[in-house]
Amino acid sequence: MSKQNTDEAAQPSHSRAAVAAVGTDTQGLAQDVGVASEQAAMATVGEGHEESGFRIFPAFDSHHPPAQELVDDCVHCGFCLPMCPTYVLWGEEMDSPRGRVYLMNEALEGEPLTDSMVRHWDLCLGCLSCVTACPSGVQYGRLLESTRQQVERRYPRAWHDRLFRGLIFSLFPYPSRLRLVSSVLGPYQKYRLNRVAHRSGLLRLLPAPLQAMEALMPDLKLGVWRKPIPPVTPARGVRRARVGMLTGCVQRAFFGQVNAATVRVLAAEGGEVIAPPAQGCCGALSVHAGREEEALRFARRTIDTFEAADVEYVILNSAGCGSTMKEYDYLLRDDPEYAERAREFVKKVRDVNEFIQEMGPIATRHPLPVTVAYHDACHLAHGQGIRKQPRAGLAAIPGLQLREIRESEICCGSAGIYNLVEPQPAAELGQRKARHVLATGADLLVASNPGCTVQIAASLQRAGQDLPMAHPIEVIDASIRGESVQSLLRRKGPRQAG
Ligand code: SF4
Ligand code: SF4
Repeated sequence: MSKQNTDEAAQPSHSRAAVAAVGTDTQGLAQDVGVASEQAAMATVGEGHEESGFRIFPAFDSHHPPAQELVDDCVHCGFCLPMCPTYVLWGEEMDSPRGRVYLMNEALEGEPLTDSMVRHWDLCLGCLSCVTACPSGVQYGRLLESTRQQVERRYPRAWHDRLFRGLIFSLFPYPSRLRLVSSVLGPYQKYRLNRVAHRSGLLRLLPAPLQAMEALMPDLKLGVWRKPIPPVTPARGVRRARVGMLTGCVQRAFFGQVNAATVRVLAAEGGEVIAPPAQGCCGALSVHAGREEEALRFARRTIDTFEAADVEYVILNSAGCGSTMKEYDYLLRDDPEYAERAREFVKKVRDVNEFIQEMGPIATRHPLPVTVAYHDACHLAHGQGIRKQPRAGLAAIPGLQLREIRESEICCGSAGIYNLVEPQPAAELGQRKARHVLATGADLLVASNPGCTVQIAASLQRAGQDLPMAHPIEVIDASIRGESVQSLLRRKGPRQAG
């Protein structure tokens, strides 16, 4: 029997049915998007994961299942397929947006929730590239959010998966706990114990997810996060707006220099910057993982905090946080105390790139003769439609040359916690992105999301490469302050020396 026939026989019945229903030749499309048929035939279900054999009836309970009318918006045209990173990797219909929506429909029509269904949804990066591509306006982000909430409530994950996810969510949304971990792991990097651990092969004794976590650990620049952002920073010159700033969790713990640059630029552009010390996590990671109660708790606290700060705008510099906070009104739609407040809050939320262009930049930009490759973070480009503003902010710097990265619409594989819980496809996407970044020949890579920066830096490092990296606001800050290109390029990627 040929390989293709074997794979067809092994294909779950719902895959075959969906392909038949929409009339797609997945092998052909896989070739169109540049994957070999051997890769296209790669089975995704159960690889490295135990099949529990669970069949849960009904698949979804009555609390916010994916809305049937949103599912029905999909007309099975397939325009989204070449834009979907997992489809690009494997050419598997059920690992495409259309296939995942098809599975949601199956579940709504009475099919049980199975390991295979959950696996295909788990493998989705939530990158929303399909939303950009879809001519029918399918709100895939909302469908995925509801589906993930159902899975988290109803599907019994393997114990080690539960344990690892529990570890992630007891750590990442809490800057004080990240601070504690940093103080332990900082010396591990500082005294090069990581090199010893790598060379001796000790790390290979760790379970795969912990290896992935170690590989993605940013450079814990001891001291950077110890300089907290002041609660109030006055505007330089005439005050144009009173703005609140989300300092974030990972951003605060590991990328303090980005927060510091954001405050300086906002102040230089006439913002009085308020950074409430009591603020916590915005809930983005929890929303994307389907942890509804936790996400609601974080969202309510964020609204309380910035309402008390009495600001005209709430500014953030992390793409994932921005796309979540702009959807608080949807998240809190059932909450009688917060629904209206969330609607008002959402009107104030701006990504920092968006805010600067909206206000009209006034601070003088000094020349920075440097070639920059700009990476579109998915939750900025696809999630918020912000593509022009960061480019405009960079292009306004005299002497700066902007280069585009091939396949800019395709995710780098970071995707919240995806590169921790699905390290293999994340690494493949990271390599692909790193290749395209290097091909630009740029001196500096610029991205608006801490997760992307870490992911691309790790992928470059795996390939024995290194590239200075910065957030767009750091480049603008360097220009306003009249820093030299050399000082900008001294910023190494955010990875520890390995
Ligand atoms: S969110 Fe990204 S990975 Fe998921 S289906 Fe859409 S394009 Fe594919
Ligand atoms: S592009 Fe939109 S309508 Fe077409 S298959 Fe994809 S999700 Fe469905």
